[in-house]
Amino acid sequence: MKTVETLNELWQARKDLPGPVGLVPTMGFLHDGHLMLVKEAKQSCASVVVSIFVNPTQFGPSEDLDAYPRDLQRDLSHLEALDVDLVWIPTSEVMYPANYQTWVEVGDVTKPLEGSYRPGHFRGVTTVVSKLFNAVQPDVAVFGQKDAQQVAVISQMTRDLSYPIEIKVVPIVREGDGLALSSRNTYLNQDQRKAATVLYRALRAAEKAYLSGERSAETIRQIMSETITDEPLASAQYVSCADLLTLTELETITNGALLSMAVYVGKTRLIDNWILGKPNAD
Ligand code: AMP
Repeated sequence: MKTVETLNELWQARKDLPGPVGLVPTMGFLHDGHLMLVKEAKQSCASVVVSIFVNPTQFGPSEDLDAYPRDLQRDLSHLEALDVDLVWIPTSEVMYPANYQTWVEVGDVTKPLEGSYRPGHFRGVTTVVSKLFNAVQPDVAVFGQKDAQQVAVISQMTRDLSYPIEIKVVPIVREGDGLALSSRNTYLNQDQRKAATVLYRALRAAEKAYLSGERSAETIRQIMSETITDEPLASAQYVSCADLLTLTELETITNGALLSMAVYVGKTRLIDNWILGKPNAD
């Protein structure tokens, strides 16, 4: 496994990789969710590139950029064990050199949900992913369903900018009690960790109602909100029952729906989602 930092090193190493080449973008502090993305890339590609970059431009001024967990040595040993070919660990100066002034912005699909509570977040994501695509030139790029809106935004960007890249999506990897794996789970103390299952409980309560015939999106949103209100350590920032493609809020569920939410457990902001009317992984 080769590890590179600069663009020149990356380009040099990229030349030697047999295709098809798969790219797995990450912010590091890798867990089994990330590793599932790598395994998916290994299955369909001859070479796998993983990037590790905590992208400052996708964090808001009051968000957790400085506190974001990092453990590069552990990340590298996980990736080595999976026989990854190339790891790119750019610095902020490599990604955003002095006098940097170019941004990639996607339209409507970035506006609701995460976009409405994290202004500028998706501009940072699409800019950095587009730079990763340009630098690595992968045939396949793998993302997690954990960040459902990110998948929709990147898919839109890939189509709109005509990137010749296949976007693969891996289902959410969860702990045994349903909590979606996330680097941010490390912020939770013991009581908060127990309370954090409320996101999964809310999604499953909503799914149960849907499977019993409930089709009012407002009722489904209420069921999720009430489950979260019942958990004293949690407070919902938003709950959503939205159209799978446009991500706009539904009135009636006629053709599936994306349930999603952002919930504070203490100071930690957690997100989760569940697709109604299509198979989920679990
Ligand atoms: P991050 O390091 O948080 O930026 O995540 C890198 C990639 O891993 C993104 O495509 C995420 O959606 C994906 N990911 C993170 N957590 C999970 C999970 N629990 N299951 C599946 N994919 C995940």
